[in-house]
Amino acid sequence: MSEILVVVEATGEFGVKKVTLEMLTLARQLGTPAAVVLGGPGAADALSPKLGEYGAAKVYAAEGEEIDGYLVAPKATVLADLVKRVRPGAVLLASSQEGKEIAARLAVKLDNGILTDVTDLAADGTATQVVFAGSTIVKSKVTRGLPLVTVRPNSLSPTPAPASQEVEQLTVTVSDTDKLARVVQRVAEQKGSRPELTEASVVVSGGRGVGNADNFKLVEELADLLGGAVGASRAAVDSGFYPHQFQVGQTGKTVSPQLYIALGISGAIQHRAGMQTSKTIVTVNKDAEAPIFELADFGVVGDLFKVVPQAVEEIRKR
Ligand code: FAD
Repeated sequence: MSEILVVVEATGEFGVKKVTLEMLTLARQLGTPAAVVLGGPGAADALSPKLGEYGAAKVYAAEGEEIDGYLVAPKATVLADLVKRVRPGAVLLASSQEGKEIAARLAVKLDNGILTDVTDLAADGTATQVVFAGSTIVKSKVTRGLPLVTVRPNSLSPTPAPASQEVEQLTVTVSDTDKLARVVQRVAEQKGSRPELTEASVVVSGGRGVGNADNFKLVEELADLLGGAVGASRAAVDSGFYPHQFQVGQTGKTVSPQLYIALGISGAIQHRAGMQTSKTIVTVNKDAEAPIFELADFGVVGDLFKVVPQAVEEIRKR
């Protein structure tokens, strides 16, 4: 079976993002998963146990300041060299900002086709994409070169399948062109103790109906009680109620938690695009005709400022 290269998305603290585990799960259906770690010194050793737990039979490690200190260009160079050498059956990257940028550069370097934001990839190379804000499913194949795809986070359920693995260190050679942009400063996203929005199993989102930035404390309170992340509609973000990094939807983040609670959100198609694959959807809206009710598993027609404090009180009692 040919190797399926999975480019690892790591968190800053040497953790592995859930989308990497999803990609390893997918790779197991296509061939032999091989993880590629592109990071600072020691990254591969730190990440290997988790990668092995999800079936990575091999870990390719490209480590060093040259990789960590520069933007995507050196990573694409290392990957292009690796692909030419090992000729994998497919290459999977996360559909994150960085993943998509590396994938695009890799496609150019290899003169290869590319499919982005796929939600599934079959053994014959047919990729599934959900487009037009979730209204249309497209099946496509890369017709030039190997299947090079970026995988939309939260499309698959990661399942463990422990594999023993070998780690191979890759030589990192960075050209002057690769050094045209370098990282000068890293500013941590405003995070706090809440889980990352795209990885959280509970998301509580507020919309224009929340009214103002101060009222978002109510959304945060419910999220914290449930151990969840806070999201926001674009209307809430555009009105300055909550920062853009928490926007859910077509032009924000895509989430697929076990539980999504929409408070004061009408359910516009662009918002649905980012949350409609959530396992259970609960909404509170004072307008019984709001489109979000078509999607919700449980809905309360009512004023969120009356309903949510009661829910908070009930949860606190348990
Ligand atoms: P509204 O549509 O104004 O709905 C507010 C809701 O709150 C109403 O249903 C109202 O009944 C309810 N409400 C009011 N007060 C209360 C109360 N006290 N208690 C209970 N309910 C109350 N939107 C996104 O969210 N994410 C995106 O990524 C996104 N991308 C877009 C991209 C494009 C190209 C375009 C054109 C639009 C995009 N939008 C996006 C905007 C989208 O079309 C909607 O305008 C937006 O989602 C509406 O946000 P909302 O539901 O918070 O506000």
